[in-house]
Amino acid sequence: MKRETVIVLDFGGQYNQLIARRVRECNVYCEIYSYKTDIEKIKEIQPKGIIFTGGPNSVYLEDSPTYTKEIFELGIPVLGICYGAQLMMHLLGGQVGTAPVREYGKIEVTVEQSSKMFENVSEKTICWMSHNDYIAKEAPGFEIIAHTSDCPVAAVQNPGKNLYAVQFHPEVLHTQEGKKMLSNFVYNVCECSGDWKMDSFVEESIKAIQEKVGDGKVLCALSGGVDSSVAAVMLSKAVGNQLTCVFVDHGLLRKNEGDEVEAVFGPAGPYNLNFIRVNAQERFYEKLKGVEEPEEKRKIIGEEFIRVFEEEAKKIGTVDFLVQGTIYPDVVESGVGGESTVIKSHHNVGGLPDYVDFKEIIEPLRDLFKDEVRKAGLELGIPDYLVFRQPFPGPGLGIRIIGEVTAEKVEMVQEADAIWREEIANAGLDKEIGQYFAALTNMRSVGVMGDERTYDYAVALRAVTTTDFMTAESAEIPWDVIGKVTSRIVNEVKHVNRVMYDCTGKPPATIEFE
Ligand code: GLN
Repeated sequence: MKRETVIVLDFGGQYNQLIARRVRECNVYCEIYSYKTDIEKIKEIQPKGIIFTGGPNSVYLEDSPTYTKEIFELGIPVLGICYGAQLMMHLLGGQVGTAPVREYGKIEVTVEQSSKMFENVSEKTICWMSHNDYIAKEAPGFEIIAHTSDCPVAAVQNPGKNLYAVQFHPEVLHTQEGKKMLSNFVYNVCECSGDWKMDSFVEESIKAIQEKVGDGKVLCALSGGVDSSVAAVMLSKAVGNQLTCVFVDHGLLRKNEGDEVEAVFGPAGPYNLNFIRVNAQERFYEKLKGVEEPEEKRKIIGEEFIRVFEEEAKKIGTVDFLVQGTIYPDVVESGVGGESTVIKSHHNVGGLPDYVDFKEIIEPLRDLFKDEVRKAGLELGIPDYLVFRQPFPGPGLGIRIIGEVTAEKVEMVQEADAIWREEIANAGLDKEIGQYFAALTNMRSVGVMGDERTYDYAVALRAVTTTDFMTAESAEIPWDVIGKVTSRIVNEVKHVNRVMYDCTGKPPATIEFE
């Protein structure tokens, strides 16, 4: 049975992944394609609906992204958002120009509730706008179904042809009833049935893996992070004993983390993963001796990781498949899916394929957004605390220690970080804060302890609130919590005599320090 799909045609907007996520939240599978995708390819996909995204250009200028008009003749419903709305009007004979008043931010929109798009939406509803251009005149055959005080055409429809267009952004949370509107589009207009559910995804994936793998051997690098854990457990449910998981402890994990990972995934835990733990701490510290530059540290850690993994793999002998925990945003960001500029090409464990002898890669999470990976993890029975783990970078504490990494510094940052995390949890703040950790600055300064002069390190505490980790704000932590953590750290962690709180958002800072 073919899965119902809605596709997002990407014209370079900022929120394109959000559109796909919102559609999937409505239980409809959704994928992102560049506007350069050939119409034949789209016909092949046979989507239930198509959504044109926003974009930075002006539709009436030459060289702006466009699409063939034929797309509106396929009998497939189309929803245009912002640039996409303007483009639909422009292509179908309407007029788009510079708006006399541009709108930016939350704006009250008056909608025509009788439209399929606005069923159960309030007549006056707050929507998020971000445009310099506007639809001056709707295309023939269309009727206006929403306006604002400054924007005469905030939404239009041609219900006979199932074409809809909105000037605002229903995908962002600032649009209060945006989710309802997108749901109206996929259910009322596209007539989807809602077959994208994580329980069936997990079941189907397990079957597909079994068919692909047959009686082959599978190797997986398990880090204990959400993605690799979910991938590993899925594989073990599918092929059981044919799977071997290698966990490299590079000595840059959080306090007790190696043992925690082993407790869950090792022989004493509930899974059958043929778990191999490699304690490679000393090797990594040796390689990192004297190295201060962040990119160089990352490179060394990545390469050493591959070496260790490769040695372990050799012991196992030839494997047929290698598992990678690639997820959908990695696929989009590496330029395969969408139009937005290539940010980085991803490899979960940094280029493994070149070094390990295997026939094929399996990426069971390739189609999933992060929140879907978590849902799949819960479906697979992985405990909450693993599924809702904070992001943790591959190079681990190596990039939370500014400057040279030593075993002694690792211990300092592990202890400080454990105290910070414990107190955040005690204060009941752990659910609100997206990510929080301690870092060891490379700064030493003078202090006084027990009447004696000290010359010791400063720890930086970091806590940010964020919805997507693309932007973040420094979290407001109650002063008594910071006070308690500070006094515990300087008392309990040797060679730390100062604690600082990082007040910087992203941008201009990043969440991690290096
Ligand atoms: N560039 C177009 C405008 O300014 C569309 C903007 C958008 O899609 N957010 O109106």
